[in-house]
Amino acid sequence: MKIGFVGLGNMGAPMALNLLKAGHAVAVFDLNAAAVQTLVAAGARAAASPKAAASDAECVMTMLPAAAHVRTVLTSEDGVLAGIASGVTIVDSSTIDPASVKEFAALAAARGNAFVDAPVSGGTGGAAAGTLTFMVGGSAAQYEQVRPVLAAMGKNIVHCGDTGTGQVAKICNNLVLGVTMAGVAEAMALGAALGIDPKVLGGIMNTSTGRSWSSDTYNPFPGVIETAPASRGYTGGFGTDLMLKDLGLATDAAKSVRQPAFMGALAQQLYQAMSSRGDGKLDFSAVIKLYRAKD
Ligand code: NAD
Repeated sequence: MKIGFVGLGNMGAPMALNLLKAGHAVAVFDLNAAAVQTLVAAGARAAASPKAAASDAECVMTMLPAAAHVRTVLTSEDGVLAGIASGVTIVDSSTIDPASVKEFAALAAARGNAFVDAPVSGGTGGAAAGTLTFMVGGSAAQYEQVRPVLAAMGKNIVHCGDTGTGQVAKICNNLVLGVTMAGVAEAMALGAALGIDPKVLGGIMNTSTGRSWSSDTYNPFPGVIETAPASRGYTGGFGTDLMLKDLGLATDAAKSVRQPAFMGALAQQLYQAMSSRGDGKLDFSAVIKLYRAKD
């Protein structure tokens, strides 16, 4: 297929590479020329604008930081909607709020295009390996249409329901993730302060009822899990500022349906404190630093 791809960052670049590897013809655009060059070296065509990337595409993908960027890429003078042919589907894999998804879907529909939300989990490792989980919001027919394209970049392609429900799944998952990480950090720091070997404590948690992905794969205490960001100075992984963004999406969405989000709001403040002290770029498991003077 001819695919237009806008947003070649930590996630978008490896995703676009996997589309090329699967044999698709990919036209790419990013504000960062170096990112475009890397994809061109791998066989992509450089487009001069989102409009140009969309102009002869049979499917358009976007992978951008936040809703404001998606709005610009879609609606600016040289944006996707200015160039796309009627009937072509736009798939947005950025993590954004469900209300914006509905707004963008209405804008696209007015021009005869479908807009499908398909946020991902699996991180940069999953993006490179082509093993992402896609949470797809749209009609059953739209899901069936985009599934083969997404299958080149992921291994679990899940239809969550109507437009916007992919983002609902994503922000609810990340709400749990932000909360469990803060809980594991609190317990690991307490255990260490009370004198237990953190490796022993981590091992007990992971065979007991305290187990979670935050304890058994991404344990925030340095040295407990050798492959976790905590064991390499909290570099790589999922940035604190991105977790902060996702918890903001969750608490805003909660407000919109008058639903309490007690734990999400508290976790949001913890990651906000991390960001304010200059640690926003560190992996989000660095939240344990709030509990440990030594870190
Ligand atoms: P990133 O900041 O690395 O990449 C974003 C890219 O968008 C950059 O290359 C930037 O130049 C480009 N961009 C911004 N505005 C643009 C515009 N107007 N036109 C063209 N390009 C533009 O972000 P990322 O880590 O790739 O994440 C992308 C999205 O995926 C975010 O919504 C994030 O929350 C989500 N996500 C990230 C991860 C992760 O582990 N990094 C995991 C799951 C989901």
